[in-house]
Amino acid sequence: MIMTSRIRKMISRKNISKNALKVLYRLNKAGYEAYLVGGGVRDLLLGQKPKDFDVTTNATPEQMIRLFRNCRLVGRRFILAHIIFSSEIIEVATFRGDHLEEDHNKKYSNFQFNKKNGMLLSDNIFGSIEDDAYRRDITINSLYYSMTDLSVRDYVGGLRDLKQGVIRLIGDPETRYREDPVRMLRVTRFAAKLNMSIAPETAEPIPRLALLLHNIPSSRLFEESLKLFQTGYGYITYCKLCKYQLFQLLFPTLARDFTKTGNSTTERMLVQLLKNTDDRIQNQMRVNPVFLFAAMFWYPQLKTAEIISQNNSSSLTYYDSFSIAINNTLGEACQVLAIPRKITSLIRDIWKLQLYMSRIYGKPAKKLMLHPKFGVAYNLLTLRATVEKTPELIELSKNWNKRQLL
Ligand code: ATP
Ligand code: MG
Repeated sequence: MIMTSRIRKMISRKNISKNALKVLYRLNKAGYEAYLVGGGVRDLLLGQKPKDFDVTTNATPEQMIRLFRNCRLVGRRFILAHIIFSSEIIEVATFRGDHLEEDHNKKYSNFQFNKKNGMLLSDNIFGSIEDDAYRRDITINSLYYSMTDLSVRDYVGGLRDLKQGVIRLIGDPETRYREDPVRMLRVTRFAAKLNMSIAPETAEPIPRLALLLHNIPSSRLFEESLKLFQTGYGYITYCKLCKYQLFQLLFPTLARDFTKTGNSTTERMLVQLLKNTDDRIQNQMRVNPVFLFAAMFWYPQLKTAEIISQNNSSSLTYYDSFSIAINNTLGEACQVLAIPRKITSLIRDIWKLQLYMSRIYGKPAKKLMLHPKFGVAYNLLTLRATVEKTPELIELSKNWNKRQLL
């Protein structure tokens, strides 16, 4: 085990959530090993505020059920205990074992591994803390903080990488990406969020293996996409995703509009949108996946509507073409990312409102302002004006602004 004692005093108990402390103490008191792990330890060591506090222990889920009244077991790939408090949920995982050891394969029947593409389907094998450390994704996410001796345990060189600002996958990168291709997105996201560099051997396989993301359920990719773009570092994450050919895999519709100069409306929209989103998060303002996807896909939607309209000018109204285009655009997006229906139906409303908002006067225009999504639609109109910079659109957005103030 590699351990740096200098780091020992850097974690202060007062920066750890009270509930996480309660869980750690209760487990220790009952005779189990228990550690704070993952993003919580990483962020505390970096002097940042952790998003959540994960705990890991040698107690099994069954033992935790007996120990905590407020405990619920969740998860399929790996069973986790959720210890539920009024203000937060502390996630507690039993140490994971090394799935590659043959012994484990024989011992545990609920182990599943897809031989064809090397993807790990089920991971329910318990192990020691050291096994657990090697099962995690990157070295800086594999640091363990113990409340019994207030030390940080490091089995994979995470402290060195944290100090040097390096994102390094644990183990053989290609094998680890094949097991779980989402790790390619996580590596990119953490490099962007923490402003760290990706170790060359960790970066090298990504463009080659990016296609493996097609094996990931679209619902998981949707969840991941929100972490990529709505947690405060969306713009820089986007730049890195493009560099490693990952963005093109997640958003083929948008990538079709990519140009050498980066100057297409889709590209300019992405840059403006993601920078604005980052600013909002920085200023503690709310962000909304409906707006994110409505803005991201707006120009491809417009282009599709125009093509359908031109090809069917004698039989379809522009409105009909626009409606058909919505089905095509969202249908294609959802093949990769399962955007939930309640979000796509609001995107539909916001896009249709863009058509209605092109006229500002008269009774129908007045009614528009009563639409529950008028505010979001107005924000998209303003963003379009910033991207396109046409006098008409700038004027229209200004006039709608004045009208709202009346
Ligand atoms: P965040 O600040 O985004 O919460 P995090 O590192 O805590 O960052 P989580 O998604 O909350 O990330 O996961 C908690 C921990 O679980 C990680 O730190 C890592 O050790 C482990 N982990 C998560 N996803 C994977 C994965 N796909 N493969 C291996 N280990 C993973
Ligand atoms: Mg976390």
